[in-house]
This record gives sequence, C-alpha cells and structure tokens, in this order.
Amino acid sequence: MNSPLFDVIIIGSGIGGLVTASQLAAKGAKVLVLESYVIPGGSAGYFQRQGYTFDVGASMIFGMGSQGTTNLLTRALDAVNITLKTIPDDVQIHYHLPDNLDIKVDRDYEKFLQNLIAYFPHEAKGIRRFYDECQKVFNCLNNIELLSLEEPRYLLRVFLKNPLACLGLAKYLPLNVGDVAQRYIKDPLLLKFIDIECYCWSVVPAAMTPMINAGMVFSDRHYGGVNYPQGGVGKIAEKLVTGLERAGGKIQYQARVTKIIIEQGKAIGVELANGQTYHAKTVVSNATRWDTFTKLLPPENIPANEKLWQQRYEKSPSFLSLHIGVKASVLPLGTQCHHILLTDWQEMTAAQGTIFVSIPTLLDPNLAPPGYHIIHAFTPDWITNWQGLSPKEYEEKKEIAAGQIIDRLEAIFPGLDAGLDYLEIGTPRTHRRFLNRIDGTYGPIPKRKLWGLLAMPFNRTAIPGLYCVGDSTFPGQGLNAVAFSGFACAHRIGVDLGVKK
Ligand SMILES: Cc1cc2nc3c(=O)[nH]c(=O)nc-3n(C[C@H](O)[C@H](O)[C@H](O)COP(=O)(O)OP(=O)(O)OC[C@H]3O[C@@H](n4cnc5c(N)ncnc54)[C@H](O)[C@@H]3O)c2cc1C
Repeated sequence: MNSPLFDVIIIGSGIGGLVTASQLAAKGAKVLVLESYVIPGGSAGYFQRQGYTFDVGASMIFGMGSQGTTNLLTRALDAVNITLKTIPDDVQIHYHLPDNLDIKVDRDYEKFLQNLIAYFPHEAKGIRRFYDECQKVFNCLNNIELLSLEEPRYLLRVFLKNPLACLGLAKYLPLNVGDVAQRYIKDPLLLKFIDIECYCWSVVPAAMTPMINAGMVFSDRHYGGVNYPQGGVGKIAEKLVTGLERAGGKIQYQARVTKIIIEQGKAIGVELANGQTYHAKTVVSNATRWDTFTKLLPPENIPANEKLWQQRYEKSPSFLSLHIGVKASVLPLGTQCHHILLTDWQEMTAAQGTIFVSIPTLLDPNLAPPGYHIIHAFTPDWITNWQGLSPKEYEEKKEIAAGQIIDRLEAIFPGLDAGLDYLEIGTPRTHRRFLNRIDGTYGPIPKRKLWGLLAMPFNRTAIPGLYCVGDSTFPGQGLNAVAFSGFACAHRIGVDLGVKK
C-alpha cells in the first residue's frame, strides 16, 4: 500500500459527492474527494467570461428553504456550519405553450391554482384534487428525517415515530404522475400541461415520472420555494467544500480517476490518470452509473443488477446551451427568471423542441456587468446529432442552431438578437467534456413505464466497499434530489464503517 488509508474516497465533487463528503467529514471520517475538473460542482458549477458569471446547468434551486426536513441543501450546509444567502423567486416558471397557454407558477399555491383554473374552469375540482394529492406526498416526506432507505434500524425508527407518513410514502413509491393525474383530470390539453410540468425537470412525460419526485417539486415550490443562491449556483459547491475542509476533509482538483481498484472482490482504492493511487476502506462514485460500471471498472465484469438497471433505464438527452449576455433593455418589464417555451405539443420531447430559459441576473444583478443580463437558454439534444463533424462543420452547425434558438426566443424577448453582448454555445459534446458525463446526458430516464421509483437503486452496489451517489441513484436528477442521495450514502457508509460522531 503506497498511500495513506482514507475512510472514504469520493470520485467527483458534484453536489451528491460533496454532500456525502461533508456529512462524513462532519462525523469524523477521513475523507478525500477527487475531482477531475478545476472547480467543484459538476452540473452545478459555473464559468466566468467578460464580467458575466454563468451557471453551467442548474439554476432553479429547490431545497434551500428554512423549514421542514426536505430542505436538504440548507441542511447539508448547516451540518458543516455554513450559511449561504439566497434570493427568493416569486414565480417558479412562466410557461409559454401551444394553444395560447400562458401560465405562471406562482410561489403562492392558491394564486397558481387560480392561474391554471382560469384556463380550465371546467376542471377546477380536478386540478385542486391532483395538486392536493401531490401535497400529501410532500407532507409525508417533509415529516420524516431523510436518510438511507437501506438502513433497517433507521427505517424502523422512522416508522415508529411517524407510521402514517411512512405508509403514505410506501403507497406512492410505485406510482407515476400520469396514473394519479388521470384519476382527476379528463381534459386532454390540461393533461398535456401536466406532461410539461413533469418534462421540464424529469425529461419524460407524466406517465413515466415518479409520483414521489413530483410530490417534492410540485409542492416544495409553494413551501420552501425556489431560492437562488447569492453569487450564483456555483456558491453551493464552493461553500460545501469550505465546510468539508473545515471539518478535516480533503479535495484534490485535476485528479481524474481512471480505475477503481478491486482486490479480492472488494473496492479498496482508485488510480488516477497520472498513475497515482489512493487507498480507502470505501469508495464512492459520483460519476454516472454508466461511467462507473463501463469506464472505471472492467465492462466485462458488470454485476447482474447493473445489467438489469441498464435494461430498465437509458441515458436522457444532453442539452444545446446558449449562454447569452444581453442589454437589460431587451427584457420587458416584469420578466420572470425561468421560462419554458414550446410551440407544438408534438415537439415536447423532440431534440431542440422545448426551450428552457433562466435569467438569474433578475435575482442577482451582480452576475453581469451593470446594464446587462444573463439569459441561459437550453434545449434537449442528443450527442449523436453532433458527432462525426469536422471542426468547421461543428462550428457552423453550432452557429445555425444558436441562430434558430435566438429567433424563437425573439417571441418573448423582442430585440434579443440586436441586444446581444456575449454568446457562448455549448453542445452535448461540451457537456460530455466539461461535466464529465457519458454522452453529456442529463441522467437516467426509464426506457419504458416503470413502477415509479421502485427500480431506482440506492447507494450500495454489488461490489463490497463500492457505493454510488448522485443522479443515477435514488431519487434521481436535481440538486435537492442528489443532496438526498448524498445524505443517504453518508448515512449508510457511516453505519457500515461504524463512524460514531
Ligand atoms: C443544463 C442543465 C440544467 C439543469 N437545471 C437544473 C435546475 O434548474 N435545478 C436542479 O435542481 N437541477 C438542474 N439540473 C440537474 C442537476 O444539475 C444535476 O442533477 C446534479 O447537479 C447532478 O449532480 P451529481 O451529484 O449527480 O453529479 P454531477 O453534477 O454530474 O457531478 C459529478 C462530478 O464528478 C466528476 N467526475 C466524474 N467522473 C470523474 C472521474 N473519473 N474522476 C474524477 N472526477 C470525476 C465530474 O467532473 C463532476 O464534477 C440541470 C442540469 C443541466 C445539465
């Protein structure tokens, strides 16, 4: 053995990895995080250009409220004695949809319901019953401490303390949103609206979106609310690293892990691209499951349960992203931070069909030079559409695609093209390279309709000593979701290693 023995090595400093790391360090474990990039955060990172601070991905942040048990980002920071100022967003999303649906999801629950009922008065009862049912899921979650569902003593403790919440969750675990929505809602256009309500964070329609996740998103937006971290989303990861280091943990950047070392069937360490090895009692991978089991471990030895998982889940598309700096005068008065644009329902799940927009400078103006705003516009796209091109063809294709997105954005931001100050275009290839995710994927999506979240794996793997954390573990994508996964992973490892504090 040629390196110090850590309790835990974590491959990757995404939010899932950092929550695991900071939780374990706070409990006294000896933790090392190895990150291949130059800063922490992964898909919750940032980059700076000409006075602009752009979020690379996530910008609609749940889990930063101050009450309940589901505010996991706040709780993860608290655990390492860190606070992060946030700015509340009054409207989660402003939808610009086909059939002239122009709907704002207000932070105030009643106001949102009334906005929606104004378009569908004949469904007033159904709308309320559907969203109320989502609130029931949330109330169950928000009444229990969220830790590892793989830890029987915790499950028993939680059950004895709050049997009704636990039974409620067990009931919803195998359900998808579509099953519940169709019980209450008949209008096909309203059901399409429920589809895009799901699609905009799960990237699948309601029929394939687990009810547990919807319970969180559709309710927390009216409870803890959507809150933007002051200074940009990248601050969450930076602050978690500060907390991690203060608690005695270590992080190393530009440290690309190429191999998980297995000895006698057990994960005992990792090897970096430069040949350096590190050893630990346990190894956690914050890389996607596909990266973990086909690149960091020999693909021919993939465990049977991972094969089964790959039969059930596939890679979602990646994104084409436009990071735009624009004159403030382009934004009409009263513009909201987050928008969804779709012109044809048939195109909702198609490549470059739905456009997502985030304008974080409406909440934190310091992210852009005075008099300017950031518009981050992104749309799902597949890596296959961007492969096999010469460098010239690639640049040309980027320019054409960006021009088309800007044209479509002109519908809500007239004068956008003329007001451009800065433009940087990212493709699925960019996401693959800088976010270090296979094919640049946003994460796993069901290949076919599954039983809600039942098939989503927890943190332990078939290989002793190896755990996974992040969006290819329960409960899936999103910063608060991967924070949940981080809490659960740290809890399970803490029990396995006997970390007491
Ligand atoms: C465009 C976009 C918009 C999004 N919008 C939102 C949003 O508004 N709200 C929201 O909540 N979520 C959003 N998400 C999703 C959210 O960002 C992700 O679900 C979440 O950040 C994933 O976290 P993770 O812990 O799984 O890991 P990741 O963020 O994938 O981080 C993994 C880290 O591991 C590192 N790594 C990987 N392999 C290795 C290796 N071999 N060696 C060393 N390091 C390695 C990577 O460099 C990376 O830093 C968005 C994502 C994207 C791409």
